[in-house]
Amino acid sequence: MFKQLCFFVGVATQALAQSADLGGVKVLLERPDGPATVSATSLEKFKLRVQVDRQGDMRALNVRVELPKSGRNVWPANDVEVRDEAGKAMLVRRSGIEWENLIVPLTEKDGVFIVQAVVPEVQAAQTTSEKDRVIQDATSGARVRIANWPQGRTAALSIRFDDSHPTHLSKAIPILREYGFKGTFMVNPGPKEPGSRQNYAFETQHAEWEAVMKQGDMELANHSAHHRGAKGDEDMDREIGGAAQAIWRLRPGKSRLMALNLGGGTTWETTRTLRHYLDKYQQFDASSGSLGMDDSYGGRVEAFRKTLQTHLERGLWCRIHYHYIGGGLSSSEGSFRAALDIARQHQDKLWIAGMADIHKYQTERSSAKLALVKSESRSLTFQLDCSTDATLYDQPLTLEAALPHGWDAAVTTIRSEAGAAVPAQAAQTEGGRLLRFEAPPQRVTYIIATTP
Ligand SMILES: [Zn+2]
Repeated sequence: MFKQLCFFVGVATQALAQSADLGGVKVLLERPDGPATVSATSLEKFKLRVQVDRQGDMRALNVRVELPKSGRNVWPANDVEVRDEAGKAMLVRRSGIEWENLIVPLTEKDGVFIVQAVVPEVQAAQTTSEKDRVIQDATSGARVRIANWPQGRTAALSIRFDDSHPTHLSKAIPILREYGFKGTFMVNPGPKEPGSRQNYAFETQHAEWEAVMKQGDMELANHSAHHRGAKGDEDMDREIGGAAQAIWRLRPGKSRLMALNLGGGTTWETTRTLRHYLDKYQQFDASSGSLGMDDSYGGRVEAFRKTLQTHLERGLWCRIHYHYIGGGLSSSEGSFRAALDIARQHQDKLWIAGMADIHKYQTERSSAKLALVKSESRSLTFQLDCSTDATLYDQPLTLEAALPHGWDAAVTTIRSEAGAAVPAQAAQTEGGRLLRFEAPPQRVTYIIATTP
């Protein structure tokens, strides 16, 4: 449906006043100090036409487009691109952690452009419903479901560290190992660039990071090659793809999927969608929804205690992130340990894992389903089906079989279709006795059987 809703904005306040007409999108000139005005029209869902009326102002101008990042009208910001009237993709500038805010630089020749969300080139796995993830079988009386989280845990926690600082190797990793927790390290693995004053801790401590990856108890993630943003599509590839390749080299043969966060205080210019780069390099967007743990924010330990409690109550993924660890740095060792102590108090209910591990489990589960194949009074055959790409998504799913009355867990077995015994753990829960076991996120058939 074509909605003709035009408005004119010379200054920000007018843009705000009219934004409801554009489904919450705000369009304004970045420096409204000249005669030029900007107007916008909603063409269809997630598609706008923006027009600058220069009124003689022939300078280069920047138009700012702010897309709603939450609520009913939220845009899929990672899928948004800008094209001129001839259909040519235009360069758009964004901040690394605010992909929903676009700056469109216009030369004196430009006047009209289209802002639109496009369908990703790589199709996302189909989402199933909660109903698809459970079998309630009347014949055997057994009930099988895909657990919300692995090993019967209630919620998940990821602990992230940004900017490949030397204290990650000297402090964070040894302390995490004391607790037996896995951390996710968002590193900048790019080689030194001439004239740059960046910190190249990853490059100078490459052997130590290599040893951490060999040990296999920590996760690396992409924080771009140099933490300096990018100018143009090729530079985007170097910064995102270059960092991904450096990390892949440290863990050969493993799934290439990893978390990406372009970093605060950086500016990125590209004609492409962020989704293009995420799909091209098998990354997932992990730039938002995390609790910052730097001491300078104040009251971090209490803030974490509250946030974790909420996530445990709701069964969700709690994300926190640190920068540098140690005396006089962004987080003191004392406050770091205090937060880990809180996590340890809830360890029986909490899956503390890497960001890719958690993302994989969530994505696999939301595309998985169970189907009954055959059932008798003392056996049940069923199939798990998962539509994620098994080369990327390799985190085992936890299945739970609630045993009917009269089934003794000690003489109940789980076998694969080929007859191999599947190791299972018996657990007593509020809902009754159950057997818990791990299944690869693929199409696989199981037989649960008991003897009288
Ligand atoms: Zn950073």
